Amino acid sequence: MREQAAQAENLIVGAGTSLAEWQTSLALSRVPIIAHHQLVPMGRRLVVVAPHPDDEVLGCAGILSGMKGREADVLMIAVTDGEGSHPESLEWTPSRLCQQRPLESLHALDRLGLDTRVLNWRRLRLPDSRVAEHEDQLVDTLMDIIRPGDRVISTWRRDGHCDHESTGRATAYVTTQQDACLIEVPIWAWHWAGPEDPRIPWARAHKLMLDARVLASKRLAIRAHCSQVSPDGDTPAVLESETLERLLQPFEMVFL
Ligand SMILES: [Zn+2]
Repeated sequence: MREQAAQAENLIVGAGTSLAEWQTSLALSRVPIIAHHQLVPMGRRLVVVAPHPDDEVLGCAGILSGMKGREADVLMIAVTDGEGSHPESLEWTPSRLCQQRPLESLHALDRLGLDTRVLNWRRLRLPDSRVAEHEDQLVDTLMDIIRPGDRVISTWRRDGHCDHESTGRATAYVTTQQDACLIEVPIWAWHWAGPEDPRIPWARAHKLMLDARVLASKRLAIRAHCSQVSPDGDTPAVLESETLERLLQPFEMVFL
């Protein structure tokens, strides 16, 4: 049985939980550490299912940078081209974003030190903000792509953004069917959850620690997403500095 979409409630409002508040979290401090080779053992393929171009670096730049030298074992799946990020903008039209954002993804992975000529990419071109309407199609496509034993990263099923949740649900279902290993990453949960929030599946949480070099390259990689980190006239950037600071902690949290 596939999970159904929960009642839509917009959790991504206001400034969200600050980095300083997260730094006081006892629950977070108790999350056990996991090593990269435990997440993606040698010989295993890593499949990253990203709802929007940027989710891969926001959620798992550290895991990706650990694939340096193993790029042929990486498959990046862009579910949408992220054309819905600037609905009111005259500057960033949907057609321009469709061109720009996949290039930003490529540039970002280059900044992580990965050989992007060797990486495998699939663009599914589902409509941004409406992945849920195409979830069956996403399941069918992923069933053809995901193989037994794959390590598959997607956004967490309860992340609080409709596309992140839909992508997470579809990926979770397919990994179970195909006997692959699911790795869920929270992205917007860092915004809406509280430091000891019982809605976070702490028992499934693990932390991959990022050293200073990897963290610096993650920061650079995020900056490659110019359309998302730059203000658009008087409109603040889609990814504001508070959001980025929460996602640039010296670890990446995953749910296994
Ligand atoms: Zn996203």
